[in-house]
Amino acid sequence: MARIVMKFGGTSVADVEKIKNVARRVKSEVDAGNQVAVVVSAMSGKTNELVGWAQEVSPMYDAREYDVIVSSGEQVTVGLLAMALQSMDVPARSWLGWQIPIKTDGAHAKARIKEIDTTELDKRMNGGEVVCVAGFQGIAPDNRITTLGRGGSDTSAVALAAALNADRCDIYTDVDGVYTTDPRIVPKARKIEKITYEEMLELASLGAKVLQTRSVEMAMNHRVRVQVRSTFSDAEGTLVVDEDEIVEQEVVSGIAYSRDEAKITLVKVADKPGIAASIFSPLADANINVDMIVQNVSEDGKSTDMTFTVPRGEFQRALQVIEKNKDKIAYQELLSTSDVTKVSIIGVGMRSHVGVARKMFETLAEKGINIQVISTSEIKVSVLIAEEYTELAVRALHTAYGLDAE
Ligand code: ADP
Ligand code: ASP
Ligand code: MG
Repeated sequence: MARIVMKFGGTSVADVEKIKNVARRVKSEVDAGNQVAVVVSAMSGKTNELVGWAQEVSPMYDAREYDVIVSSGEQVTVGLLAMALQSMDVPARSWLGWQIPIKTDGAHAKARIKEIDTTELDKRMNGGEVVCVAGFQGIAPDNRITTLGRGGSDTSAVALAAALNADRCDIYTDVDGVYTTDPRIVPKARKIEKITYEEMLELASLGAKVLQTRSVEMAMNHRVRVQVRSTFSDAEGTLVVDEDEIVEQEVVSGIAYSRDEAKITLVKVADKPGIAASIFSPLADANINVDMIVQNVSEDGKSTDMTFTVPRGEFQRALQVIEKNKDKIAYQELLSTSDVTKVSIIGVGMRSHVGVARKMFETLAEKGINIQVISTSEIKVSVLIAEEYTELAVRALHTAYGLDAE
C-alpha cells in the first residue's frame, strides 16, 4: 500500500465528462489498495474568466477580494469530483483550503504556504476515504482566503504530499511529461524520462509552465517524488529526481522561453558610484522584481546606458517609479518595450563543459537574431531577443543542441 497525492490540472477537469474520467483514474488507485489525496484546479479557462471579471469591476482591485473571486473555480471542481467518486461507491469528501486548514502568509494573490494541519486528513485517509482538496487556495493569518499565484495548484499538491508524507505526487496534465521544450511550439520536442530538481526549477522559473516554480522548490526541499504525466493516456511520465539518479546527463537538457518580460533602457545616466542603487532601490521598494541587467561600457567615462527587464505585468508601474525618480537618477532619455522574449538553455552538464554559451550565440547569429541582453548562472544561459523571433530561436537552439526527436 502506498499513500499518493494525485493532482489534476484545468484541462483534465474541463467538463463533467472529464471529471468522471478523473474519478475513474482515482478509483483505480484506490482499487489497487492505495490511500489517495486528490488536488484539483478549476475548469480550464475558468480562472482567466474570473480574473477578467475582477479587472473589469476594478482595474486596481483589492487583492483580498480578488482572492475570494478567483479561488471559486476550484470549489466547483472539487465538489463535483467528490460527488463523482461517491457515485462510483468510493468514499470521498471535498476540502477547501480553509477547512483543512492550509495556512499561508498574508501576501494575497501570491501567498506562500506556511503550514498544513493534516490531523483530520490523516484520519480520513487511514479510514479509507479519498480526500479531495481544492488547489490554489489557503487561508491567511487574519482568516481571509488567499490564492497561491497562477498555476498554484501544483504547489498545493506538492505541499500536501510533503505534509502527508506521501510516497509520490503525480501531476496529471494535458502533456505526457516534461519535454525538452514546450511541445506546443516545437513539434520535435522530446519527452524527458528523468530530470533533476535543479533543472526543473530553472525550466519552470524561466517560463515552462508545466509546473509552478514554487512547487518544484518545495519538492526539492522536502524531497517529494514528483511525476508529471498525462490524464488522457497511460504513458510513463517524467520523474523529477536527484542528480545522482541520472546516469547519462545531457549538456543542455531543456530550453525555455518567457514572453513575460519588458525592457527598460535609461540613456546617459552618470557613470559614478551609487547610480545603480538610485535606479534599483525605488523599484525594490515598489516590490518590482528586476531580472536581467546590463550596463553599457561608458564611451566618455562620464555617462552610460543602463538596460534592465521587469515582468510584463509590472511594466507600467516600473515606468511610473522611474519617472517619479527622474531627478535623482538624472537620465537623459527613457526607452522601453514589451516586445521582447527571454529564451534560456538549461542543463547541469554546463558546469563541466565549455563552449555551451558560444553555440547559443552562434546559432542565433546564423538566424540573424540580435541578442539584446544576456544573463547566465551555473546551469543556464538566458538571452533577450525580439518577440517575433521566439519560435525561430527556440527551434534553432533545440536542433543545435541535438535535442530534436528522430
Ligand atoms: P495544467 O492545467 O494541467 O496545470 P498547464 O497548462 O499549466 O497545465 O501546463 C501544461 C502545459 O505546459 C502544456 O500544455 C505545455 O504547452 C506547457 N509547457 C511549456 N513548456 C513545457 C515543457 N518543457 N514540457 C511540457 N510542457 C510544457
Ligand atoms: N486555476 C488556477 C490557475 O489557473 C490554479 C492552477 O491551475 O494551478 O492559475
Ligand atoms: Mg498548471
